[in-house]
Amino acid sequence: MLELKDLSVDYGVGESAVHAVRNVDLTLHRGEVLGLAGESGSGKSTLAYGMTRLLAPPGVVAGGSVLYNAAGEEPVDVLRLTDAELRRFRWAQTAIVFQGAMNSLNPVHRIRTQLTDVIRAHEPDTRPAERLDRARELMSLVGIPEDRLESYPHQLSGGMRQRVMIGMALALRPQIVVMDEPTTALDVVMQRQILSRLVKLRERFDFAVLFITHDLSLLAEFSDRIAIMYGGRIVESSPSADLYRDPLHPYSRGLLGSFPALRGARRELTGIPGSPPDLRAMPAGCTFHPRCPLAFDPCARRRPPLAATSPARDVACWLHATPDTED
Ligand code: ATP
Ligand code: SF4
Ligand code: MG
Repeated sequence: MLELKDLSVDYGVGESAVHAVRNVDLTLHRGEVLGLAGESGSGKSTLAYGMTRLLAPPGVVAGGSVLYNAAGEEPVDVLRLTDAELRRFRWAQTAIVFQGAMNSLNPVHRIRTQLTDVIRAHEPDTRPAERLDRARELMSLVGIPEDRLESYPHQLSGGMRQRVMIGMALALRPQIVVMDEPTTALDVVMQRQILSRLVKLRERFDFAVLFITHDLSLLAEFSDRIAIMYGGRIVESSPSADLYRDPLHPYSRGLLGSFPALRGARRELTGIPGSPPDLRAMPAGCTFHPRCPLAFDPCARRRPPLAATSPARDVACWLHATPDTED
């Protein structure tokens, strides 16, 4: 449904540019929940902004394409849409709930007004009674009592406001929902509730979800696939169950070791020593090599390609590279 090819995003230009996203290939399939995980600063939000063309300066897409395949239509490159086409893509086809989105509700309008305004703006022919019915339905979809339609944003909890934002995002029945979870504003229980609700709605409306979070145990439970980002690159992408059972990339292993498991055997929490790379001056070879406990000869010299180890699994690590991908 959405195919990112060789996508790169920078902040700024020239020598001082921050290379926040580098040569990312990533596919979001129809109806799936794809989790995107990685430490703070690994480029997750930048990827989401870049692929939806919502980057603010000094952010610039430095290269690549984002192919959108609507059912029965020719694929289009989102990065080359006109402004009018882009507006349609953003609302009618892709809905985005960004980090801190719950603070973007207008404080002086009731929730009812904000929901019905979204519908009116995009479907001006609808009647007021119809818009109100749709707003009620959206509230019930995201599990908020209907009488809360009359509330102002400050009268709702953070979690409720986030759910209102999801309701708004779903107002126009999008094909893709991108959700960039705030990691500080919402607690883990709330993140879990929101993701579980989104997964249920997905089963009903058949949209694809890109869910961004630090919390791998959450993704293991709810997502079909997980992509792991490190230093602006995807270092592993796998079906969730495989990644959780047998992470291939040493960084994925470290990330999994940083979170308590919700299910299965207890693991010792280890964390990852060292700090994320400087995106202005990336280490040569494998970006993770300065922190990798398993680094060996080629790692500091040559960058491992993201290569398939099985039909559904890709990993960028010399431990898993087959001879024909070595050169
Ligand atoms: P988090 O988990 O904390 O949300 P993230 O993975 O979403 O992190 P990004 O916000 O995408 O990370 O940031 C990626 C890199 O780009 C970081 O090093 C960040 O400092 C840098 N960056 C982000 N926004 C800007 C900006 N406006 N100008 C310069 N650098 C930026
Ligand atoms: Fe570690 Fe080498 Fe694999 Fe990089 S390529 S993750 S340094 S083993
Ligand atoms: Mg972010």
